[in-house]
Amino acid sequence: MPFHGDDVLKSFNELDLIKWIKAHHSKKSRDLILGIGDDCAAVKPARGKIMLVTADTLAEGVHFSRESAPPRALGGKCAAVNLSDIAAMGGQPRYALLSPCFPQGLEFKWIKAFLAGFHETLAQRRCILIGGNVSSAKDWISVTVTVMGQIAEKRIVKRDGAKPGDLIYITGTPGDSALGLDLLLSGRRPLGKTEKYLVSRHLSPTPRVEWGMLIAEKGLASAMIDVSDGLALDLVRLVEASKVGADVSLDTIPLSVPATKMLAGMGQDGGWRRILTGGEDYELLFTVHPKKEARLKKLIGSGKIVASRIGHVNDGAKPKIKFSYSSGRALKISQYGYVHSL
Ligand SMILES: [Mg+2]
Repeated sequence: MPFHGDDVLKSFNELDLIKWIKAHHSKKSRDLILGIGDDCAAVKPARGKIMLVTADTLAEGVHFSRESAPPRALGGKCAAVNLSDIAAMGGQPRYALLSPCFPQGLEFKWIKAFLAGFHETLAQRRCILIGGNVSSAKDWISVTVTVMGQIAEKRIVKRDGAKPGDLIYITGTPGDSALGLDLLLSGRRPLGKTEKYLVSRHLSPTPRVEWGMLIAEKGLASAMIDVSDGLALDLVRLVEASKVGADVSLDTIPLSVPATKMLAGMGQDGGWRRILTGGEDYELLFTVHPKKEARLKKLIGSGKIVASRIGHVNDGAKPKIKFSYSSGRALKISQYGYVHSL
């Protein structure tokens, strides 16, 4: 084995790296029949549960820059963005496939830190790596991850169940990630405590797996989506799938203290547009029938979920989606969120 020391590869190819990953990052599980090392992994679905499957790619130069994203954080984010999709359906993440393209000459130290972050974020949500594919790349890193999760079929929460009169809730504090990205791109240094918080929300988002599972288990949401491309765009997706509309009251959208501080210098409309369209929040946006709100509020009151009511679902007559201030003035939005140009 061309291993130098017990956990450092000085020169390595695809096979060496897979061997190393198998030795350091594979785990056993009762439902896992075959893990890393054969043509396929083989898993046994839990009795009475269905599998949820999702995939996401993070590409250097599009989603991150190697200069500003530390490898450990990036590994964690590659896992988190997929775990967030499982959370958005209310599922329990179980298995992950990791398919990185690493440019030749990328230091093993970098890869090792990346894998540590990836593994740590999965392990925190009881998800294990069972396979994938390693490829070399010409210049840029790109990482595709597939995550499989499970849920009881009747508990699955889709995007299409919102009804007029339902209340709209969001977890956490949206906008922090976008403001953190702005700070990274501005090149402003050194960063104070406030700025560092926002940057960390961008580099290391938290997938809301426990909250999503609780919302599904208690049957609280009529529809749910995770906010990856901006609250505004993901709300459009949810209301379009449900064939309804939405009224959102800007003053009720919860902002973190660091975001509030930063917004003070941005102008009211511009600041709100950034919050609503910036994306990569990985919070959960969901709708709740008014009769179920008291049960949700109890969970919020006991600290089991952090979520705030930001509006209500309407019948979808024009305008389909309205973001307004308490004065009644509507915020105009021309670009609802991040869409990849191809
Ligand atoms: Mg999603």
